[in-house]
Amino acid sequence: MDKLVQLYDLDFAELTAFVQTLGERPFRAKQLWQWLYEKYAASFDEMTNLPKGLREKLAQTAVLNPATIAAEQRSSDGQTEKVLFRLPDGQLIETVLMGYEDGRRTLCISTQAGCAMGCVFCATGQMGFARNLTAGEIVAQVLYFAHKLAPQGERVSNIVMMGMGEPLHNYRETLTAVDRLTDPTGLNLSARKITISTVGLVPAIRRYADEQRQTPLAISLHAATDEERNKLIPINKRWPIAELMEACRYYLAKNGRRLTFEWALIAYKNDTPEQAQALGKLLQGMLCHVNLIPLNPTEGYSGGPSSRERVQAFQDELARYGVSSTVRVRRGIDIQAGCGQLRDRVLASKQY
Ligand code: SAH
Ligand code: SF4
Repeated sequence: MDKLVQLYDLDFAELTAFVQTLGERPFRAKQLWQWLYEKYAASFDEMTNLPKGLREKLAQTAVLNPATIAAEQRSSDGQTEKVLFRLPDGQLIETVLMGYEDGRRTLCISTQAGCAMGCVFCATGQMGFARNLTAGEIVAQVLYFAHKLAPQGERVSNIVMMGMGEPLHNYRETLTAVDRLTDPTGLNLSARKITISTVGLVPAIRRYADEQRQTPLAISLHAATDEERNKLIPINKRWPIAELMEACRYYLAKNGRRLTFEWALIAYKNDTPEQAQALGKLLQGMLCHVNLIPLNPTEGYSGGPSSRERVQAFQDELARYGVSSTVRVRRGIDIQAGCGQLRDRVLASKQY
């Protein structure tokens, strides 16, 4: 049998061509598109303005959402919800929805199954790389939650690519997904509300800068000296801090958009006054902001989160260099909402 067509992989022109191969007129593509991206249909049966024959043909030749639920969890305060999705080849990926008082609904999505970068403190890095996700598999995570929120009159308002995987290591599919999510005739999310987080792949950052997109970039720095960063983030040996900062300056010159730097505070490792000073010197005068997140402990790494006092001292030190920072609360600790952690838990218990 021919391979099933993944509908979320197709843009509107491709969807139109596909509908025509089924012997249908192009206006059916528009109806199907609306079912996908305006009504977030979860099944072909729902698509009641399509003739039954077409719905049957679609069910035989195409896949709507390639992701099925392997496990789900909600935090005790009800504000964080995590889903482990199973893809057609059995790969497991995680998506986390975070609700905020002000009504924001931020979705943390995966771009790869596993990750090749091997950062020592990261649950995904500890499991290694399985494969890239397709654009459709990235989009599917958003549409699942769009469908789920719609009956409450809510929508996904922000997206962070901070789930499993390194988005810029899956460059083309990630940006195709961004295009699909921001398509004005479809889901129409604001490009400014989608953050791409990268471990610091220098050539990809430059390529991204050249595209001059509106989608903001976050850089996972985590250490301000090569000696420290080499211990945490293996790819630092390939692209050390000086080269990374040069790429960041290139991005700022091309783009003029504020950069975010991510910093997981690990007690007595990268939360020292020396690291804070080195970071202050590195970022002084740059159009940027630092997110400080106490480490989420993982099975494969012995480091722990910094205490409140050490977090405060680190932040104060940065302020002395005029570098702004925010301490982020760790969300959903009770549901292993650090990405990669639910998958570990489920695999260990053989629940799925
Ligand atoms: N690969 C990309 C995006 C996914 S990771 C990147 O590295 O940026 C998303 C963020 O979570 C990164 O800033 C990453 O460093 C951070 N992170 C990973 N494991 C963590 C942990 N155990 N505690 C706190 N932050 C963690
Ligand atoms: Fe990959 Fe990001 Fe985890 Fe590093 S922190 S292993 S780049 S997912």
